[in-house]
Amino acid sequence: MKTTGFVLLWPLIAWVLSAQKFYSEAPLSASTTKNVRVRFAPSPTGYLHVGGARTALYNFLYAKRFGGQFILRVEDTDLERSTEESMRMQIEDLKWLDLGWDEGPNPADYSDMGPYGPYRQSRRKEIYMDYANRLLEAGHAYYDFRTDAELDAIKDALVKAGKPPQIDAPKDMVPLAEARKRVAAGEQAAIRFHVKEKRDYVVQDLVRGDVRFPSDMVGDFVCIRSNGMPVYNFCCAIDDALMKITHVFRAEEHLSNTLRQMMIFEALGLESPRFGHLSFILGSDKQKLSKRHGATSCHDFKVKGYLPEALNNFILLSGWSSPDGREILSREEQISLFTHERFNSAPAVFDETKLLWMNSMYLRALPHDELWKRIEPFLKEAGLSIPQAQDAQWRDHALTAFKTSMQTLADAPKLFEALDDSKFAVKPEAAEVKGWPESQKVWAAWKAELSSHAANKISETEFAAMQDRVKEQAGVKGKHLFMPIRVAVIGQPHGTELKILVPLLDKSSLLKRVEMCL
Ligand code: GLU
Repeated sequence: MKTTGFVLLWPLIAWVLSAQKFYSEAPLSASTTKNVRVRFAPSPTGYLHVGGARTALYNFLYAKRFGGQFILRVEDTDLERSTEESMRMQIEDLKWLDLGWDEGPNPADYSDMGPYGPYRQSRRKEIYMDYANRLLEAGHAYYDFRTDAELDAIKDALVKAGKPPQIDAPKDMVPLAEARKRVAAGEQAAIRFHVKEKRDYVVQDLVRGDVRFPSDMVGDFVCIRSNGMPVYNFCCAIDDALMKITHVFRAEEHLSNTLRQMMIFEALGLESPRFGHLSFILGSDKQKLSKRHGATSCHDFKVKGYLPEALNNFILLSGWSSPDGREILSREEQISLFTHERFNSAPAVFDETKLLWMNSMYLRALPHDELWKRIEPFLKEAGLSIPQAQDAQWRDHALTAFKTSMQTLADAPKLFEALDDSKFAVKPEAAEVKGWPESQKVWAAWKAELSSHAANKISETEFAAMQDRVKEQAGVKGKHLFMPIRVAVIGQPHGTELKILVPLLDKSSLLKRVEMCL
């Protein structure tokens, strides 16, 4: 294994090897739920991933369940990967999921909303510097003038000696006053946290029970880089304390960071929130869910025509379950049932087939006005124009007819296309039917039936009677009757049932279509 990979994985490996877990079924006490303040702290490096959406949802529900506050904090200190645009995209995704926050960037203009701002870490650098100075003065941190090359050499030597590649304080640590002078004179130095006492730490994790971090798991770690940029673990701990966060529910991959954060709280005498580390979400191959599994961002699912209610409900169940095993839960039910005792510490598997099923359930249950509002952008995107849809009764009929064939909103265009005259054409699939000698007879009789029909609309029963008369007049039955009529209505021999489509089409448009066949 390459040294860098080992360095990155070491905390996790050490934890897996040495952690002792004690699972407790501690009931919620007043102290665990008092003044609940939870946060979602995304790094804005792209669209919101479903894993992030789950973290946001759980924190949101927890706040609502206990009458607390949900805070959005943007962790954008990694200047190479964070972008303003990503922050905006993630805010849009959270709005789409209807996971509103009480404090954080105002979704309208991104200004700070709430008493503990700024809520973007890139605007809190002075605060971090202030706390780094407190650590320096209390002897919990030191200026480290060693170069990257020197540090790499130290790590390589440790690995060669079979030891974890942890950096410890240099023997000749520069006294603070002198270090400050050198830094003021332009020398570069990181501010490194000094792990003075090697002892075990235990975090009472709300998902996993007690997790023991062995004493030798971390060495001295950087709080402020030599270029002046503060590091995630440091910012996160300072912000959680200053923003008075009471509970942190976040992904399991942050478990090893928790140790460093606990050390920071302790050294600064700050109160630590309670932690709960959520299990991984895996793809169908049991590997961590990633882009190669297909859609993984909320934006992907939005474009694929999923409803945010369905996606929320689905991700709710990826790591949590309801006490009575019910799966479809309204937002109100989710809030009233949500407690950390129902988190599942085993990994969740992301099953898009199940999501699709859940989406179709939600889609069918939507009131038709609402369903139409959601479908319209998809029809527009597909370039469909359906003037009949102005009529609420027509819309109602069309949606009743089509919604059971829809699993996502993106299924709508191919169903509604049959109702758009401008899209009608006799398709190549109809070539065989066109060639049958019976077809001309059927079309002529169908045209005559239409012409003599008084009203502009044809009911299902009227259509059945018209079909019977065409059968008699043309002297044709079976597929040689039905297929040509289908071609005259939808331009192809296969598609939605005619008894559903014909009542949705105007007589005038049916006439135009059959004339195109003749
Ligand atoms: N910014 C971190 C991330 O996006 C979250 C850290 C945390 O929740 O403590 O993974």
